[in-house]
Amino acid sequence: MQSFPAFFPLDGRRVAIIGSGPAADAKARLFEGGPADVVRFEAPPPSLEGFALVFVALEDEEARLCAVEAARRAGVPVNAVDAPALSDFYTPAIVDRGELVIGVSTSGAAPTLARDLRARIEAIVPTAYAQLAAFARQIRSRVLARRPSFEGRRRAWEAILRGAAGERALAGDLDRADALAERVLAGDQRAHGVVHLVGAGPGDPELLTLKALRVLQDADIVFHDKLVDARVLDLIRRDAPRVYVGKAKGAHSVPQDEIARLMIGEARAGKRVVRLKGGDPFIFGRGGEELAALRAAGVETHVVPGITAALGCAAEAGVPLTHRDHAQAVTFVTGHAKTGAPDLDWAALARGNQTLVVYMGVDTAAHTAANLIAAGRAAETRVLVVENATTPKRKQAVGALGALPDLIARAGIEGPALLIIGEVAALAQCAPGALEVAA
Ligand code: SAH
Repeated sequence: MQSFPAFFPLDGRRVAIIGSGPAADAKARLFEGGPADVVRFEAPPPSLEGFALVFVALEDEEARLCAVEAARRAGVPVNAVDAPALSDFYTPAIVDRGELVIGVSTSGAAPTLARDLRARIEAIVPTAYAQLAAFARQIRSRVLARRPSFEGRRRAWEAILRGAAGERALAGDLDRADALAERVLAGDQRAHGVVHLVGAGPGDPELLTLKALRVLQDADIVFHDKLVDARVLDLIRRDAPRVYVGKAKGAHSVPQDEIARLMIGEARAGKRVVRLKGGDPFIFGRGGEELAALRAAGVETHVVPGITAALGCAAEAGVPLTHRDHAQAVTFVTGHAKTGAPDLDWAALARGNQTLVVYMGVDTAAHTAANLIAAGRAAETRVLVVENATTPKRKQAVGALGALPDLIARAGIEGPALLIIGEVAALAQCAPGALEVAA
């Protein structure tokens, strides 16, 4: 360790910034919104008595030495911009979350490297962590009073900050967070657990939200579907068990009420449970039923949206689902019903100037095409069929609505695949390496 990280309290302290250029402004910005009293000087002042920290951002060599000398005389730690040899401390790259502060330093060797690392940390530490830290301060004395032993306190903090109460605080609901923390302190195990219904996106792990990534890495147990990409499963915390509860088409492996029962059991045992579903949990994902069951059981549940297959397919193929010239509306429908093919409002769906996206529509494609054409959609209307979008197994085919079943058969598409029907489908570009069939 080449330098020692230490944090200076700023409340009621004075900070001097000497200099007037962009470097001095950048230092001043670090303290914006904070409690320190920042005093700026254009040139070295005669005395720096009473300051807690001094930053020197002067171009002129002589003036810079003079300012550093003044800080030394006053016994105040000084940082001279771009002059590590003159500095008592380095300014780290800072992730500012209120009371929670992360500093990254390369001991002056490569500030750019520190800034890159900071950018990555910014992405994984939610800004709401400031609220979590403030919440912890708010309940601190109660935790200390109610858990006299060190070990008991550590367990209570874990249960509160990493469990249901912490999630509420992150969501900004401090009253409910406080009530849940009280229940933890009263010994109610049920107040620990939390369930996240998480959208895993269409495949590519880079399409996960930052929140999805955070809860996957915090999970105690994960229940997932078949559609969830293996690369997304790789991001789950290593020692968290993964339970496959998916349903293959036609074969219901774990019934819906059984999935809910399993999750409720784990949450009541105090676990952080993730329910990971392909795409978005609320688009043809039965997420609504699971949410209702969890809430009815009094389990703290949060929903993390995901990129639904339609958006993933469209982005990858370069197909705008709405377009000023071609489509003023977009509709998502399912091609699958309990009894086989769905009974949809074909007259409404067949109108022009709109895009129709059919989920689970491969087996019933002939039925869909025939109904749309019978209701007035032109047989030449373009259709894009994409299988395994945003994964290396991707296949796509573009053709006419009238030839849809043939197109699917020739491309060898079996699903999971999406049909995008409408004028915008003509804009599809084939991704490099993807198999494309056109008709
Ligand atoms: N909740 C999911 C949809 C579940 S229904 C979402 O929001 O995307 C399952 C259907 O989604 C599949 O039959 C297929 O039509 C579509 N689908 C899911 N992932 C897909 C992918 N990577 N490529 C193409 N279609 C996909």
